[in-house]
Amino acid sequence: MASGQQPLARHQLGGPREYDQIGQSCQSIAAAADGFDAGAVSRVHQSGMDACLAPHANQVVEFAPAIWTFNAIEVHVGHAGAGPIRVPVDPCPGFGHDLALVEKELDYLQHVAPLPFPIKVAVMDRELLGRTNAQYHELFDWSDREHGKRVGVILLSGKRIPMHPAITRYLVAHEYGHAVEDWIRTERGGPKALETDFRRDYMSACRPTASDTSYGPLHWPDNVGELFANDFRLQVTFREEEYWPHPGHEPYPSAVTAWWSAAIAECWRPPLAPPAAALAGA
Ligand SMILES: [Zn+2]
Repeated sequence: MASGQQPLARHQLGGPREYDQIGQSCQSIAAAADGFDAGAVSRVHQSGMDACLAPHANQVVEFAPAIWTFNAIEVHVGHAGAGPIRVPVDPCPGFGHDLALVEKELDYLQHVAPLPFPIKVAVMDRELLGRTNAQYHELFDWSDREHGKRVGVILLSGKRIPMHPAITRYLVAHEYGHAVEDWIRTERGGPKALETDFRRDYMSACRPTASDTSYGPLHWPDNVGELFANDFRLQVTFREEEYWPHPGHEPYPSAVTAWWSAAIAECWRPPLAPPAAALAGA
């Protein structure tokens, strides 16, 4: 550990964090989310625009097929009444991430850091044309035209060479961290809270050397959103802890550890037992 600081939860809460209690917290949060079953992650096989017709639940999509358009070849991914996202891909066939491992990781994350909305992970067999490893998209399902329901969609890019499982563990936790950012931002600031404001606050509190404007090749490691996602990965999920892809930025500065300590208490503390009087019907 480069900075000499201790990561948060492992030391303060001991060992793998209280999995059963966190699981209860997951159920509690999910119960408050209309129509969302936070139970088991399901695997679905989808083709074409069927990718937009799935039920409202956590899912790992086995195959997000590529579709030729007049200008490019694209993958279309949606969820229930949300989307689709259309992303250009390399037409060359490739390898997708191991589906069972993706399911396992999503299930793990939903226990250690539950979210009150479904996450859909699309495992692609084509490579994103931007050559990044993955993307996160926040969508809203407008099947009910009065009330949009938030859906998080993670696209895992295919690659021409099979991928090491550590890459899968890293990427699913990292992309999930982007969903966590969206959730905390709107929980604190309401649905109209701006990403730019949230990120500037995070920079001010935790990552003063980061950038909130640069994004792209060579600039990615300095981007505050990417630092946030990897801070989440280290501080909350403990996935691939030896890997820190942000040269020039410490992995465990004390300000980051303090920020996430407060966030964990705010977001994922297991629910308190009701008072005895309430149980007795008083
Ligand atoms: Zn990212």
